[in-house]
Amino acid sequence: MCARCGTTAAETPLTWTSSVEGGVRRTFCDTCSRENIRAIEGRLDSDWW
Ligand SMILES: [Zn+2]
Repeated sequence: MCARCGTTAAETPLTWTSSVEGGVRRTFCDTCSRENIRAIEGRLDSDWW
């Protein structure tokens, strides 16, 4: 199940991304993964500047 949009799948597709945040494992679907990556990159960019 996607931790962001709530999309469910019988088996987690390979395109989905899983990450551990604060000891909690979270799984994001491919769409939310892209948005998540953009958010992370945005934070890194703001840190760099
Ligand atoms: Zn999602």
